[in-house]
Amino acid sequence: MKGKEVMDTQNISLLEGRQKQVYEKTAGAPEGDIACEKTSLSGSVSQRACVFCGSRVVLYPVADAIHIVHGPIGCAAYTWDIRGAVSSGPELHRLSFSSDLQEMDVIYGGEKKLYKSLIELIDQYQPKAAFIYSTCIIGLIGDDIDAVCKKVAKEKGIPVLPVHSEGFKGTKKDGYKAACNALMKLIGEGSTDDISKYSINILGEFNLAGEAWIIREYYEKMGIQVVATMTGDGRIDDIRRSHGASLNVVQCSGSMTTLAKEMEEKYGIPYIRVSYFGFEDMSKSLYDVAEHFPDRPDIMEKAKEIVRDEIRQYYPEMQKFKAALTGKKAAIYVGGAFKTFSLIKALRTVGMSVVLAGSQTGNKQDYKNLKEMCDEGTVIVDDSNPVELSKFILEKEADLLIGGVKERPIAFKLGVAFCDHNHERKIPLAGFIGMYYFAKEVYESVMSPVWQFAPRKGGAK
Ligand code: SF4
Repeated sequence: MKGKEVMDTQNISLLEGRQKQVYEKTAGAPEGDIACEKTSLSGSVSQRACVFCGSRVVLYPVADAIHIVHGPIGCAAYTWDIRGAVSSGPELHRLSFSSDLQEMDVIYGGEKKLYKSLIELIDQYQPKAAFIYSTCIIGLIGDDIDAVCKKVAKEKGIPVLPVHSEGFKGTKKDGYKAACNALMKLIGEGSTDDISKYSINILGEFNLAGEAWIIREYYEKMGIQVVATMTGDGRIDDIRRSHGASLNVVQCSGSMTTLAKEMEEKYGIPYIRVSYFGFEDMSKSLYDVAEHFPDRPDIMEKAKEIVRDEIRQYYPEMQKFKAALTGKKAAIYVGGAFKTFSLIKALRTVGMSVVLAGSQTGNKQDYKNLKEMCDEGTVIVDDSNPVELSKFILEKEADLLIGGVKERPIAFKLGVAFCDHNHERKIPLAGFIGMYYFAKEVYESVMSPVWQFAPRKGGAK
């Protein structure tokens, strides 16, 4: 790419119909809500995944179940080993099974093939449960996967759970709901004996690079029993008895708030929303849980001790990163909006400002909050596309893009540093130690000498 070929952002205009999903915080900006929670505009190459993918990413880390993608092989290949979710025991989740529907199955139906696949896999792997995902074609040919699941569950004596996640029937968020519906069928089935009054479930934490273990350790040090983690390092038996916990602590709120609300309704378990990213939000997530148990002041004391010790350990290093990064600008485009709030605070800790903030699945309240917390001049986007993201990254002169695997090439093509904050990453970014890794990664990427050769910096002539 020659220097003069840098993208001319002046000539990029927003697609008609996208304007209400984009907002720039300026003095004269119009009042009102940012449009969101709608299907992607035709012609806009959305960064969102399909309904099936939404359900797959939520359920994937359940490690002692088999996951069968009922449909053509491509859907399974597209989501194989999709998260960096690690397990402390079985690793069935890392295998990718598919009923591999062919033309004749589409004509005559795939139920028999699914039944045979299930029997064979259950016999071979002896899983604790099986999840069966419906893909687009199943919605079209009308296979009765509920009936197949029921039959196999009876024959094999394990839960066999249909996940109604046909790719075309909504947004990625509908996939989250389909996953929560499947989990709800398990919850309430196990014994709640030996569950303490001082207990929680961790929801919306997927154990990427061992993050659930870091968080779990903090809570256990506080004297709290963690009954189930959904779904990081997940186990079917833990999920089945999770209705015995006193509190649901929800991190990835986009994916798991549905489940938390249903558990509140059915089992009377209250829930709180937390985030484990950044010192500020990580500390708050410990204090908020401690506050739920006021008759045990020692839990709060322990939470304070953990926060004090952890921050003391990482603070000096953080100051080094801050000295280099102060004044640099970041763009954020991630799946759920709640994570964006934490990222803005975490970036401020290292002296960086945010010039673009967006998400694939934020709701009205999320965007209201974003508007309040963002600085003047920040662009806020819902369900954006690569052209829009490129335009704003260049116009706002961002030094860094934080996103997932689909955003990475956008950053590198523009000659901008990148930090992977999505489910494929291999470095833990949650917890106090995670904040240290995050700052280190941002520092190493933003300060890399390679960017001087990028066209936007006048290099690569
Ligand atoms: S959109 Fe349909 S065909 Fe494509 S991956 Fe999703 S479920 Fe499979």
